[in-house]
Amino acid sequence: MSTSAHCSRFPAARPHLPSPAYLQLAGGRLSSAMQTAFAPCPGMVSPAHQRAHLSRHGFTAPFAAAQRQRPVSAPRAPRCAQASPVPVSVEPGDDPSRMTTDWSVHKFGGTSLADGSRFCAVADIINDEMNSGGRVFAVVSAVGGVTNRLERLVDAAVSHRPDVHYQEILDEVRDIHDNLSKETLTEDARAAFMTTLNKNLSDIGDLLRATWIARSVSARIRELIVGHGELWSAQILWGLLRSRDNVVCSWMDARDVLVARETEGTANRRVVELSRSDKLLREWIRCNPTSVVVATGFVCQDKEGVPSTLGRNGSDYSAACFANLLSANELNIWTDVDGVYSADPRVVFDAIVIPDMSYKEAAELAYFGAEILHPDTMGPIMDKEIPMRIRNTFNASGSGTTVRATVEEDQPVVAAPGPSADGLFRPRIVGRTADARGVKGFTTVSNISIVNVEGTGMIGVPGIASRAFQALFSCNVSVILIAQASSEFSICIAVPGSQDEEAVTALKGAFRPELMDGLISSVATVPDCSILAMVGEQMQQRPGVSSRLFASLTRAGVNIIAMAQGSSEHNISVVVDAQSESRALRAAHAAFYLSDQTISVGVIGPGVVGGALLAQLESQVKSLREKFRVDLRVRGIATSSRMVFGEPIDLGDWKAALKGRSAKEVSLDDFASYIQDTSLPHAVICDCTASEEVSKYYESWLRKGIHIITPNKKANSGPLEYYLALREAQKRLNSHFFYEANVGAGLPIITSIRDLLRTGDQFLVIEGIFSGTLSFIFNEFDGSEPFQQCRAREGEWLHRA
Ligand code: ADP
Ligand code: ASP
Ligand code: MG
Repeated sequence: MSTSAHCSRFPAARPHLPSPAYLQLAGGRLSSAMQTAFAPCPGMVSPAHQRAHLSRHGFTAPFAAAQRQRPVSAPRAPRCAQASPVPVSVEPGDDPSRMTTDWSVHKFGGTSLADGSRFCAVADIINDEMNSGGRVFAVVSAVGGVTNRLERLVDAAVSHRPDVHYQEILDEVRDIHDNLSKETLTEDARAAFMTTLNKNLSDIGDLLRATWIARSVSARIRELIVGHGELWSAQILWGLLRSRDNVVCSWMDARDVLVARETEGTANRRVVELSRSDKLLREWIRCNPTSVVVATGFVCQDKEGVPSTLGRNGSDYSAACFANLLSANELNIWTDVDGVYSADPRVVFDAIVIPDMSYKEAAELAYFGAEILHPDTMGPIMDKEIPMRIRNTFNASGSGTTVRATVEEDQPVVAAPGPSADGLFRPRIVGRTADARGVKGFTTVSNISIVNVEGTGMIGVPGIASRAFQALFSCNVSVILIAQASSEFSICIAVPGSQDEEAVTALKGAFRPELMDGLISSVATVPDCSILAMVGEQMQQRPGVSSRLFASLTRAGVNIIAMAQGSSEHNISVVVDAQSESRALRAAHAAFYLSDQTISVGVIGPGVVGGALLAQLESQVKSLREKFRVDLRVRGIATSSRMVFGEPIDLGDWKAALKGRSAKEVSLDDFASYIQDTSLPHAVICDCTASEEVSKYYESWLRKGIHIITPNKKANSGPLEYYLALREAQKRLNSHFFYEANVGAGLPIITSIRDLLRTGDQFLVIEGIFSGTLSFIFNEFDGSEPFQQCRAREGEWLHRA
């Protein structure tokens, strides 16, 4: 069937043309209303039909200057900044394939389209871009949360879920768009939009009823329903832009232009056919000669012209395809964070924005799960070397992350914590630590299973790995990672957790002869794993990168199940058990992105000694960081009854915090776990109590790698076995136990004795009074005052000291 672009229209309904392709997929039982609403795909509409339709509606072929913008009859009092008049340079038939054009492509994700004020912010960004010259091609996702709801309502209809009816979700979807249109559109535009919305929803309702009755749904119907979010958000943004003075724009239903096919052997992965799409886009531009276009992300048509989608998160890919087709000068991905972070900022508190990265680095991060970008985004822009910027709609003037073909050497910039917009103290300085060693970022892939093929019969036999791949390929299981020891005694393959059973069955089938002869001893799975990937193009030039990664994981007590490093060294991946995923990510990130001297500190017993320590820390923390790069973060304070945590705790206000509602009942196990947050390289507990109870925890803390600093004498003056057990506990993770203040009120007695012993001296006798309290009393007590009074003076003296 021939295809043709049609002119964008809003608020007019789509052409009332039956679609043979569509009718076929719906079993020919669609109501005429549904035919009307769901005949949107140009693949179903011949140019002749379209022309006939357009002329019926008063447009003249070919595709009318109809696309010229209708002047806004009554611009409503705008809630966002007004746009100034924009000069429009319209060049119908412009050749979008020349090397770079004056088009810039801007993709706005659902996180940037959450409510009316966000739509206005997006419209402001588009206005600013228009004012700086050039043509703007905006690609929009659905309003935040709408695609999830559309998926849920299809699931609800299929599964007859007792807790939620699809109609309730449909009503929520209506309310979201109804409210948005109230906030953003003029009365006229809103009325037109609501007509379209209600009509679409009623048709979706009909499809869902059929689904509910049949208790099943075809993939095509699901895609059709799920893709509607983008149609609505694009029309709302289009209406909003048009309500601004002289903003001349068109909206594009990307199903009219982007043609995608499934890639061979990879289920549910669509690839856009750029050459077919190019023809449709040229035609569309010829018919819609405006300098601002609002296009739907995510949706496309399949090779038969049936509505389809590019898969979840696919709007990034849509935008990259448009950037390629238009030979745009830049692709901007607008989202809700300041750029690509060195790790998922929701998991790693200290992650920092990467100022620039290469296409390969961005692609590796995206393929290995960084949600910020769809993995296929880089392909179309790499082709034409179009630079991409990841920017924050909440901070439009920020520089974001630039992604291009090559990047300069690392700039050694230290990220220091500072207060952020959300009131937390986080590293906000954009840059890299001096010691990142070419590592750009970390990411994780959850829900992985490892399949191990083991046996001595594989040694030296050619083709084992390729037979394994072939078996997995034939049952459509995607291989995420493969590791094979040089002995070839085992092959370890990481596959999606949901596909491990198919993988084992396929591999057992492929190696049946070897299994029967005992040459392969087992094909078995290790479920519940995650992959941690470390990415950076310049890692290959730096020695010691892998060892630093492994050391950090060991220190955090993370067991490495498998590892793989490509020869390009752009990516080093390790498989860990799912429970360790966040811990592994934080520990690995800290090893490369934080100063080695970043220390998580917990103080127990904020009395006279502990209180003085906290006061000292308050006055010294800043200069320690600035002068010596020692970054002390007091993250926990515990008394005998309560404890409080913070990131870090405000040391000017810790007393109030301990009395406040965020304080909890004390549990020293929980306290230690919090202090040993593996996102920071070191953990220290300062025990400022005189409690034997607390000292009993030392052994377990030292064993976990938590360092202890204490004036508490109980541990060192108890039974010899405990003293020896503490020394033993220190060994495994080389944890420190500093107790200088146990003797001589903190005078450097213990260190001096240790230094003398280490340098070969021998002690014949040690004489002195090593107790601060006894020294004071022997000096001061002369019987002229009661002993109690002298003790009290000693306490005051200690406090002043
Ligand atoms: P959009 O709706 O704009 O497409 P997404 O939710 O798809 O936004 O992606 C943005 C989110 O990706 C951010 O809010 C952030 O929490 C998450 N994210 C995960 N990994 C990273 C990373 N390495 N850098 C930045 N953001 C990340
Ligand atoms: N709206 C779609 C989704 O949520 C596509 C996208 O946002 O990129 O997956
Ligand atoms: Mg996204």
